[in-house]
Amino acid sequence: ATPMSIISGVGRAAEFGVLVRDADALQHASTLDTLVFDKTGTLTEGKPQVVAVNTLGNLSEADALRLAASLEQGSSHPLAQAILQKAGTAALPLLNNFRTLRGLGVSGEVDNHRLLLGNQALLAEQGIDTRMLDEQLHTYALQGATPVLLAVDGQAAALFAIRDPLRSDSVAALQRLHRAGYRLVMLTGDNAITAQAIAKEAGIDEVIAGVLPDGKAEAIIKLQGEGRRVAMIGDGINDAPALAQAEVGIAMGGGSDVAIETAAITLMRHSLTGVADALAIAKATLSNMK
Ligand code: ADP
Ligand code: MG
Repeated sequence: ATPMSIISGVGRAAEFGVLVRDADALQHASTLDTLVFDKTGTLTEGKPQVVAVNTLGNLSEADALRLAASLEQGSSHPLAQAILQKAGTAALPLLNNFRTLRGLGVSGEVDNHRLLLGNQALLAEQGIDTRMLDEQLHTYALQGATPVLLAVDGQAAALFAIRDPLRSDSVAALQRLHRAGYRLVMLTGDNAITAQAIAKEAGIDEVIAGVLPDGKAEAIIKLQGEGRRVAMIGDGINDAPALAQAEVGIAMGGGSDVAIETAAITLMRHSLTGVADALAIAKATLSNMK
């Protein structure tokens, strides 16, 4: 292992838009067998869109959207952006007692109504019956959309189906990584059915879904406990502990500053093609040095 060849490997990586922190990062990157990808914003575009609104009882679609958007004014989650965008520019009612329930959704008061907006686990936790929405929820999830449920005053009231498409170059990059022999894993806070549908489309082998934000690093530790040598690829603040825990953390370009500071490798472009390039260069560099 000559220092010169490592330096040239780091330089070569840079030509491919891959910033490698140090020699150790390149060395570790040459020995991996498992790649764990964050879903939202890493495999997908991270710009979700509302594709369907279904309401129960006599609540109109417009009112459901207005209530949900009022609540999401308090949130910076990509799903909140989707709902606000769909609701349009109309003035929204005032929001009181807003709370973020990490990995689950949001709650607050609008027009003197108690609102809860988020996944099925959130409504179930509050003892709200969601059976009236279960069939729709399942249908949208199988199509790879994320179902977001609205409850008004303790009653299920509406379902929003929100789609976040794969990035256009994700599938080709993942195929290349697959051919190179890596096991591909998706790690997400989203529900298992939606995650499976997207994983299938992407060609991912294994899904770890329903993970709360603090559970991502835990999931990496579990894979390492099974003897896997793991890279974590992510872009969010939530991903930083997992990026630090993995043998190699890879941050997507344009992601959060915390992710970039934590990662051993940063991609200049926001594309998974850079992951395939980085690992190929690491392997080529280190195999020349034996
Ligand atoms: P991810 O980053 O993988 O989407 P999160 O932990 O941020 O995971 O969220 C997990 C789930 O919690 C989401 O799929 C969604 O169902 C629900 N959720 C979280 N935040 C919100 C929000 N602001 N509005 C609606 N649903 C939310
Ligand atoms: Mg993300």
